[in-house]
Amino acid sequence: MTLPTIEIAAQAGACYGVERALQMVKKAGVTHGGSVQTLGPLIHNPQVVQELEQDGIRVASHVDEATANVVVVRSHGVAPEVVQRAHELQKTVLDATCPYVKKVHYAAKFLEEQGYQVIVVGEAGHPEVEGTRGNAPSAVVVGSPEQLKDVKLRRKVGVVVQTTQSKANLQAILSCLLGKVEELRVFDTICAATSERQAAAADLSSRVDTMIVIGGRISANTTRLAEICAAHCSNTHHIEKPTELDPSWFATSKHIGITAGASTPANQIQAVQAAIVNLCEHL
Ligand code: SF4
Repeated sequence: MTLPTIEIAAQAGACYGVERALQMVKKAGVTHGGSVQTLGPLIHNPQVVQELEQDGIRVASHVDEATANVVVVRSHGVAPEVVQRAHELQKTVLDATCPYVKKVHYAAKFLEEQGYQVIVVGEAGHPEVEGTRGNAPSAVVVGSPEQLKDVKLRRKVGVVVQTTQSKANLQAILSCLLGKVEELRVFDTICAATSERQAAAADLSSRVDTMIVIGGRISANTTRLAEICAAHCSNTHHIEKPTELDPSWFATSKHIGITAGASTPANQIQAVQAAIVNLCEHL
């Protein structure tokens, strides 16, 4: 049997913000020994979180529960109250918030201070969105044009966007806002890493017969990649680790595509690729 070709998306896997956060935390772990905790899982990748735990860097689900001297703000960022509380508890705060997420915080704060009704285009309850709301407490979160119907719009509206949102959703929501408000100011804070990965995933999934998307199931950007791929390739599967691969997915595969969310390090992509090769060799 001829083995299928495997192609990895031109843009896939860990982004700048995730690499930066990982490096900061690992360095802190070395400097401060076992006295480092992340406020929530550092990134939405269970395997990475487990590896950090093995190095003594544990997760505190809330700042009040942190026992370590050093607490790390993860790449998704947090509301200012969380940092303030950490300082009250005499903790050293290591801020690994991605600079692109910081831009969303600054934009939301600026708009609120300028008297705009702030709309955050994003997923309500997502940690990044909660951090943004903390910077503009009266902000409303809108996930879709339908959700906009429940919002009592004011005259001046300012929009910021969760970094992992799609351009299409932003455009759909902006179209609904146009004509309903007198002044509309938009900060397009979608991260380039996200849109590049989405474009590469769309391109690859439209050319292959089998598509594997790697990343945490609670990772918003990975879930979005899986949705994009499924729209182009019906044989799309979202996995977190190689052991989830099912040989039946590859029974008739000739061209297999792989992509991965922005919180998936390169070694995890390589491990999945190797596992697929191994499975196909034994079909
Ligand atoms: S996806 Fe973009 S915003 Fe999010 S952590 Fe990565 S670089 Fe930062």
